[in-house]
Order: sequence, then C-alpha cells, then structure tokens
Amino acid sequence: MAKDYYNLLGVSKSASADEIKAAFRKLAHEHHPDKPTGNEAKFKEINEAYQVLSDPEKRSRYDQFGSADGPQGFGGGAGGFDFSGFQQAGGFGDLGEMFGDMFGFRGQRVRRGSDVRVDVNLTFKDAAFGVEKEIALQRHLKCERCGGIGAEPGSKMNECPECKGSGVKVTMQRTILGNVQTKTACRNCDGEGEIPEKKCTTCQGDGVTRQKKTLVVDIPAGVEDGSALRLRGEGEAVKGGESGDLILVVHVEPDARFEREGDTVFSHEKIGFTQAALGAKIDVETLDGKVELTIPPGTQAGTQFRLRGKGIKSRHGRGDQIVLVEVVTPTKLTKEQRQKLEELNLNEE
Ligand code: ZN
Repeated sequence: MAKDYYNLLGVSKSASADEIKAAFRKLAHEHHPDKPTGNEAKFKEINEAYQVLSDPEKRSRYDQFGSADGPQGFGGGAGGFDFSGFQQAGGFGDLGEMFGDMFGFRGQRVRRGSDVRVDVNLTFKDAAFGVEKEIALQRHLKCERCGGIGAEPGSKMNECPECKGSGVKVTMQRTILGNVQTKTACRNCDGEGEIPEKKCTTCQGDGVTRQKKTLVVDIPAGVEDGSALRLRGEGEAVKGGESGDLILVVHVEPDARFEREGDTVFSHEKIGFTQAALGAKIDVETLDGKVELTIPPGTQAGTQFRLRGKGIKSRHGRGDQIVLVEVVTPTKLTKEQRQKLEELNLNEE
C-alpha cells in the first residue's frame, strides 16, 4: 500500500502549495535527525512526501494513481530524490540553507556579517617585493564554547514561541496598492525557529564574541598605493550567517629615491660636467641596493638608462628601473678652473 503523503504532512488533499510548505517546514524542524526530538526515518518520510506534493507534476500523478510510482515509473523507495547528499551535509546551518532555497526567502534568511576595513602601511620596498604583515584586530568571531549556535552545550532546543518555529515573521502593511506582505527573520530566535533552553554562558546566546586575533597576511608583491585586498570570511561573524570580509587598504609610503609607474621604477642621478663629457662609472640606488652604471662619454642631460629587472616584482617577473641622468653645470668655479674652461672653449658648433 502506498504511503499517504497528505496524511504524513497532516494536510488535506486540497491543501495549497503554501500550506504544504508550511506543514513540511514545521514537521521537518521537529523531526530533523540533529534535534533532540529528531527521528531520521520520520524525517525521510516527510521529505519524500514533500518532494512529491511540492512538485505540481508529481503531485497530480500521485493524486491520479494514488502513488508517486505512476505508470511512468517515477522513482521508487525513497521517492526518486537523493537524500544522501543532504544527510552528509548535516548540521543546522545546512538545514537553514535548504529551507532558504526551498522557500525562496533566501534573501532574508542568509545573514552576513559586516566587512571590516583595515589600513595597512607599507614601505616602498615592501610594496615592491611583497611582505608578510601581522594584523591585530578585534572583531566578532564565532563563539568557541557553543560553536556559534548560542546554546549552552547539551542544552535542549525549544521551538520559538514568537514565530512558532518558522523563523519568519510575516507582517502585513496596508498601502494604497493594497496589502503588502513582508517576511523578515524572526527577531526572537534570529530566524533560527528555535531557541535554546539555556543560553551559552560565554556569548549569552549571541553565537559570537568579540575577540582579539592576529592575522598573518601575505601582501603580494607589486601592490599599489590605495589598492584594496579582500580576505573572504575574515570580517565580522554573525549568528547563523556567513562572516563578512576583511578589506585591507594599502598605503605605500613614498621613498625619496624612487618613483613608480606600474612595474617600472624611476630614479634620478646627478653627474658632473666632466663625467658627462668623458664618461664614468657611477653607483646607482636600486631596490636591491647599489649597482654600478656605466655613463658613456658624451652623455646628454636628461638621458635615460634602463636597468633591466630592477623594478617592481609582479606576476610577470620584475619590471625595469629607469635612471634619468641630470648633468650638473658647475656654478662655483675657481679661478684656475675658469681659466681652463675658457681655454677649452667648449661652445656648440
Ligand atoms: Zn556561545
């Protein structure tokens, strides 16, 4: 004899889709295997009934043939839907998720903690090469005592009297367009549909506590001033929802020796009149320390020299450094220097 799905859900044969949903939800909460009142076999039966009655096509076949196993060979046993995946998922968070999907009020159901913004100061060099930064911050994290549920370990869960276990508060608003129905998470139980008999003694039922935690963050090489790094799930935690993100806003301290454009580093070097004319080897500051640069004879002011691979590190390797040479014209000459220069008579031809 086929099971009476209507009877299992405690609804009449003419029940509306909404009535079926509500009945299923209430029973599923009651019999969920994770709960003290749980009963796995019963829960499976309820689920099976709901899978059929919530699907208009399956429901009509069931109504017609008195069984979900209609002539088209609809499933068998468990009713043709995969229960194992759900069982494996386990836990209450998943139950909430499942309901969210099924009832289409996911928007109100899934709550999310706030994002946390932290400013990070980096030296020019740290930004160029990347750096490991320790970031100490206070934020709400999942309570360790209760695992974020808000119930004292071992405490019984009771149906929330405010929402009768639905987790949802429905309010009607009268507007000029008629009555508007709004569904929000029940405040009394934070949308959980149930409240613990004894609240967690650490978080007083909040599920989260303010904690100071130091994070070690790998700042990637090549970050630019003003850029933001998002660390998923490292923000504020909320009870029964997902944590917000941590957003690191990067500030790169200027360096008197270098400027930067993308992966390229720019620097200036001053050389003397004679060095420019005769050529020289000079020491140039780079991110890796001093390197020797050969100035060829006859170098003009404003000449740029490229130092390959001395720029900012990035995914593509390292950029270059451009050294802009300034030729310093002497302003104070001794009598002797002045005389010699006059004798040389280095005028432009
Ligand atoms: Zn707690």
